[in-house]
Amino acid sequence: MKVVVRELGKIYRSFGRTVRALSGVNASIEEGEFFVLLGPSGCGKTTFLNLLAGLEKPTEGEIWFDTDLVASARKNFSLPPQKRNVAMVFQSYALYPHMTVFENISFPLKMRKTAKQEIRETVTKVAESLGISHLLEAKPRELSGGEKQRVAIARALVRRPNLFLLDEPLSSLDAKLRASTRTELKTIQRKFGVTTVYVTHDQVEAMSLGDRIGVMREGKIEQVGTPEEIYDHPANPFVASFIGNPPMNLIAGEIIRESGRYQFVSEDIKVDIPPEVLEASKIQEPGSVILGFRPETVTLSHPGEGKECINAEVVVVETLGKEKVVHLRVG
Ligand code: ATP
Repeated sequence: MKVVVRELGKIYRSFGRTVRALSGVNASIEEGEFFVLLGPSGCGKTTFLNLLAGLEKPTEGEIWFDTDLVASARKNFSLPPQKRNVAMVFQSYALYPHMTVFENISFPLKMRKTAKQEIRETVTKVAESLGISHLLEAKPRELSGGEKQRVAIARALVRRPNLFLLDEPLSSLDAKLRASTRTELKTIQRKFGVTTVYVTHDQVEAMSLGDRIGVMREGKIEQVGTPEEIYDHPANPFVASFIGNPPMNLIAGEIIRESGRYQFVSEDIKVDIPPEVLEASKIQEPGSVILGFRPETVTLSHPGEGKECINAEVVVVETLGKEKVVHLRVG
């Protein structure tokens, strides 16, 4: 199922406080796509998911599932969650503690009054593809975090949702389990082909999972693109500094033209701007700019050795095993 949102906005009004959680959000999520919403805490990610699930009503704009309008602020209309066939998995897996894994997974089917035989077949199949068949008789308290998470995903998948919404589902796992569950999640999503929206503030998760990423800030989507597009061609300094660890270096300065050559100058730096960089930046006139460069594109050399150099002092070297992060002070 394809999801389209147009000029989507949400204003919360409670106890005399007005919060604009989302404004003017436009996005189109393709059939079967793994779409990741990435942004800092409080930027409106959960609000976006809640609007798609129907748990909140938009105060502006509209939401379409294929050719069906499911919410419209203008028409004061919002299709209730139970009519949207959307499944949501939260950070807290919210499993029923007194039920076995089998009972937990089969619960949505039981609520739909599905025949017993069909429930057994569906649960067995989904459990198999998630590698939790051996746990079907266990209770949630006997499971590890990663296993609980897979049970929660299985419970969401047996409903055969048209849309799968995940809200930071890995954040309570340790680093190793996070990495392996991430890979699994991507494999499962591919296998089931369900259109998925995944919310996180973790850029590694976003880069590794997303077919495309929407980078959010203060209720707005700043850029939508594939991980490569976002990394190599960030739309603005916020996206540039939010993606990448260590982040992109951003230095404010000016482009000047001196004897036919374009140069970047700031207080302590003066470097030639290669023609291809200038062309890619679409800058035509001298003026104020922000120079951005990824740490891994910088080469270090001893004083007097390199050309096109910026003089800098090494402040700290962090050894991370496969790489070293060198902190430099310029000026
Ligand atoms: P986090 O990553 O911390 O979960 P988020 O990006 O998911 O954050 P939201 O939970 O969508 O952000 O919140 C966006 C803004 O809306 C915040 O300023 C929050 O305080 C506010 N907000 C969210 N829900 C409500 C509500 N029910 N009533 C009033 N304000 C709310």
